[in-house]
Amino acid sequence: MCYCGTTLTFEQCCQPFINKTVKPNTAEQLMRSRFSAYVVNNPAYIQQTYAQEKQAENSVKEIADFANSCRFIKLTVINTEQQETQAWVEFEADYFYQNLFCKLKERSYFELRDDTWYYVDGIITPTTDIKVGRNDECPCGSEKKYKKCHAN
Ligand SMILES: [Zn+2]
Ligand SMILES: [Zn+2]
Repeated sequence: MCYCGTTLTFEQCCQPFINKTVKPNTAEQLMRSRFSAYVVNNPAYIQQTYAQEKQAENSVKEIADFANSCRFIKLTVINTEQQETQAWVEFEADYFYQNLFCKLKERSYFELRDDTWYYVDGIITPTTDIKVGRNDECPCGSEKKYKKCHAN
């Protein structure tokens, strides 16, 4: 299954976007491929898919530092509103940061410019990080202990 949570393989789903052999047709595809790019640690792709005016404030190094400090678990797309040149995708992304289980809840805004979808910005709903003990059940849903699952 692709990292972004579809029933396709990574090769059939997000990889062609990340490798730039195919352009995402929809904002949701772009959003999913950006999540997968975090998982496979391709910060350049994440940076290039920001709208141009946002690229300076999101350096490849900062994106790489964030990607390296997290273990990404799961993406859940909650809602998509796709118009001709604008789109909104609401999602939840689960990841671990050190021993914290974090949930990013965001409504992202995308624009189609010169035939290419870009991520412009997003509204984040604050969530509470959960501290995970080594003997706790792993919050990823595996039913294993954290120390035998996502602990590093
Ligand atoms: Zn995918
Ligand atoms: Zn786990």
